Amino acid sequence: MIDLVVRGGTVHDGLGSPGVTADVAVDGGRVVAVGRDLGAARRVLDVTGLIVAPGFVDAHAHSDLVPLMPDAQPFKLLQGVTTEINGNCGYSYAPDATRVEELTGVSVPDWTFAAYLSAISEAGPTNHMATLVGHSTLRGAVAGFRPELAPGELARMCELAAEAFEAGACGLSSGLIYPPGSFGDTDELVELARVAHRYGVPYTTHLRDEGSAVGRALDEAIEIARRARVRLQVSHCKVAGRPNHGRAGMLLAKLREARVSGVDVRGDQYPYTAGSTVLAALLPPSALAGGGVRDLLGSPAERARLRALAEAGGTGAGLWQDTTPAGVLVTSHTGDSRGDQIVGFTLADLAAGGDPWETLCDLVAADPAAQMVIEMMAEEDVVEIMADPLIGIGSDNGPPTGLEHPRTWGCFPRFLGAYVRERQVVGWPEAIRKATSATADQFGLRGRGWLGPGAYADVCVFDPAEVGHAGTYAAPAATPSGIVHVLLEGHVVVESGQFAGERRGRVLRA
Ligand SMILES: [Zn+2]
Repeated sequence: MIDLVVRGGTVHDGLGSPGVTADVAVDGGRVVAVGRDLGAARRVLDVTGLIVAPGFVDAHAHSDLVPLMPDAQPFKLLQGVTTEINGNCGYSYAPDATRVEELTGVSVPDWTFAAYLSAISEAGPTNHMATLVGHSTLRGAVAGFRPELAPGELARMCELAAEAFEAGACGLSSGLIYPPGSFGDTDELVELARVAHRYGVPYTTHLRDEGSAVGRALDEAIEIARRARVRLQVSHCKVAGRPNHGRAGMLLAKLREARVSGVDVRGDQYPYTAGSTVLAALLPPSALAGGGVRDLLGSPAERARLRALAEAGGTGAGLWQDTTPAGVLVTSHTGDSRGDQIVGFTLADLAAGGDPWETLCDLVAADPAAQMVIEMMAEEDVVEIMADPLIGIGSDNGPPTGLEHPRTWGCFPRFLGAYVRERQVVGWPEAIRKATSATADQFGLRGRGWLGPGAYADVCVFDPAEVGHAGTYAAPAATPSGIVHVLLEGHVVVESGQFAGERRGRVLRA
């Protein structure tokens, strides 16, 4: 007798085929048949009227340390996500131990990529996790926050990258607006991406500029992929900043041109007009060189110099010109006794008629790690990018605590509810492909991201009439609606919208 039959739903294969009314038979953690009259099962889930899809694959996650939290965290499972790609934007939590030591307060000698993967595997993720090795992390491990590499240091970074790929890292990531990664030039990234090529894994990048110079930044990413002969994943595709609104077509045209010329490029996107990152990203990245941002911001002359750089816009300017003071919501700030009078307010509120630049400098000087939600995209661009078949879905979540961007709890249900059911930007088969195989293929996740005989039984059953997310920037942590059952290798880990409490996720090694 087989383990489980998911009976009577509309089954989507995740490859973009139309849905069909069918049963799905699961045995030994795998899908064994899709059809009718599949025989007796120990358990039957009746899902008449619901959509049965492959579990969603989150192309862009920052859940690297979530398994180490004391309680099991179901925030992705409750969205139907069964696999996350972590280590994005140039930051992985290995092989450099500094950030892990800062966050846990414990010293971790011999911290390698393999040790990191073992640690999260032992702690037990709630969903599957694959992890990229980050360029900023590699650079930090070798050269700290020093802009120039000394002779031999790039070779050492390449060795550490190779160790990470040996241990199972699923690709190389970069975040070229964040120091120390921002200090790396194109040739440095090509050398590292060549190591990724040897292991057959992709290069993902938070571009050096997502505003006025986004075209040039994308050209650089494509050049890196071409020279290193790797697949390219452009992270959280957007055209940021009011002067750039309406330029989504330019970005998409460049992706298509690159493909025609032989570079296997795709992208991901979160379905919101606001992003989220450190407040310090509003400053020129050079302000953070050497880690002395507090001293720097103590000098009025330096503040004025940085302001001139920021107001000039373009690469090296930071995000200041991509938003407005009213579009910056401070979501964490711990450097000041007035914390609760800062968090939840915009930079415009906090400047209170004064100079928002000075307010920003004060806030970053008090807490260089403070976070913000930042309005920077136009809805029409978000929709145009979403409609493109080269783009998959990635949440860009933070840890599931505090006033994080609502994408942390609601990215996938919001995409399906607000953009697929309500606005019909794409149809259900294509939407499900974007949330599953479009990403699984890019990251080489064999047996995942599609639903058919032989695939792992990672499954999301959702109600197309109900799926959605009511979270807002002020109250983001709402539980999604319409995600009914979630299976992880055949185990029902979410049943009737309730998390069963188990840590059944696996660490996926490339
Ligand atoms: Zn990023």
